[in-house]
Amino acid sequence: MLFERISILDEHFSLIREGYVGTRGDRIAYVGAERPKEDFGETYDGCGKVLLPGLVNTHCHVPMTLLRGYGEGLPLDRWLNERVFPMEDMLTGEFVYWGSLLGIAEMMASGVTSFSDMYFFCDDIIRAVREAGVSANISKGVTVFDSSSFYGSDDYGKTCALLETYAGKEDDIRIDACIHAEYTSNEQIVREVATFAQEKGLPIHLHLSETQKEHEECKQRHGGMTPAAYMDSLGVFDGPVLAAHCVWVEDADIELLAAKGASVAHCPASNLKLGSGVAPVAKMLDRGVRVTIGTDGASSNNNLNMFEELTLAALLARGTGYDPTLLPPSQLLRMATVEGALAQGRKNTGLIREGYLADLCVVDLRKPHLRPVHDVLANLTSSAQASDVCLTMARGKVVYQDGVFRTIDVERTMAMAENASEEMKRRLV
Ligand SMILES: [Zn+2]
Repeated sequence: MLFERISILDEHFSLIREGYVGTRGDRIAYVGAERPKEDFGETYDGCGKVLLPGLVNTHCHVPMTLLRGYGEGLPLDRWLNERVFPMEDMLTGEFVYWGSLLGIAEMMASGVTSFSDMYFFCDDIIRAVREAGVSANISKGVTVFDSSSFYGSDDYGKTCALLETYAGKEDDIRIDACIHAEYTSNEQIVREVATFAQEKGLPIHLHLSETQKEHEECKQRHGGMTPAAYMDSLGVFDGPVLAAHCVWVEDADIELLAAKGASVAHCPASNLKLGSGVAPVAKMLDRGVRVTIGTDGASSNNNLNMFEELTLAALLARGTGYDPTLLPPSQLLRMATVEGALAQGRKNTGLIREGYLADLCVVDLRKPHLRPVHDVLANLTSSAQASDVCLTMARGKVVYQDGVFRTIDVERTMAMAENASEEMKRRLV
């Protein structure tokens, strides 16, 4: 496909106006201000539109779309224990598949081409990812409340099975190791997962210092060690780590994350909804930590809208830091694209660069709330809505265009997801 006369966010995150991008197979084959001489087949008129790298959502529990808006208005512990966990017990693989497809449809329609997920029934999530045609890093949530070993657990068997089926084959699916959190595991499990991840060369996806309660109780339990220090003492940071939230990290934790090259998934909407607080993103960025953007699951957000996360990330950093220069648009867009891809261990996507995967999205600037255009990047990060995405291309294939889902029967998906959540509620009583 040839995108023609389109504004392009180039690999330096500056703008090429009325430029050309050609894709061939799953790759970007041409980027330039001049019309290429080669033929790239179908053309796309990009007049009044801007082409960005596909967005990367680095923290999600995609099947939780089934619980969107369910049992709201309770304090966090009651909401989880009385509403969310009992509903999750009713999940089946089939329900997870429809919930995943629903969440992926929402993400595709808002420019997301890759996401990192932590949940269960992973084969059913992967089935949805593959049908949709996007990419995902999948981790089987490891939660162990008793003193058993990771190697003796069901989670270990399931992670190994996932690795056997998917790892090292097609790059669309990558398998990550997982420690759900400090408070849902024990020292032996954490140490064993860390060793396992390093042996297999897997990144570890975990929740870290999301709430003050979690952070302070960890310190009480472990001789003053913060969740980051505790994880480090057990070898977690000896390999790549994707740490979600990091709301309550302390200065020494930030130094540790930077020194170890860990990535953070900043989930501002979820942190606000659950009353968790505001992550010190500007400080983390200043110390050299890779900060990326995630939505978290739809039951704690309540959508999977990366544009909303970008707006919130900027407003929160500037408002709490008393500094309007923090998180400028180009940095925000990097966090939501190439930095997210690198946090997933994907070095061939996230930039509009020849040879990179054609993971792309187009935003239509011909909307009242996006005019005039003094600064495209500012409009993209402060004015644009998810619904301004008019085309999403994943791995060289158009998966969404102008309200039409090319790989998913979205009407059926919505109906089946609706049925699944109703059935779960019925089974509860
Ligand atoms: Zn989460």
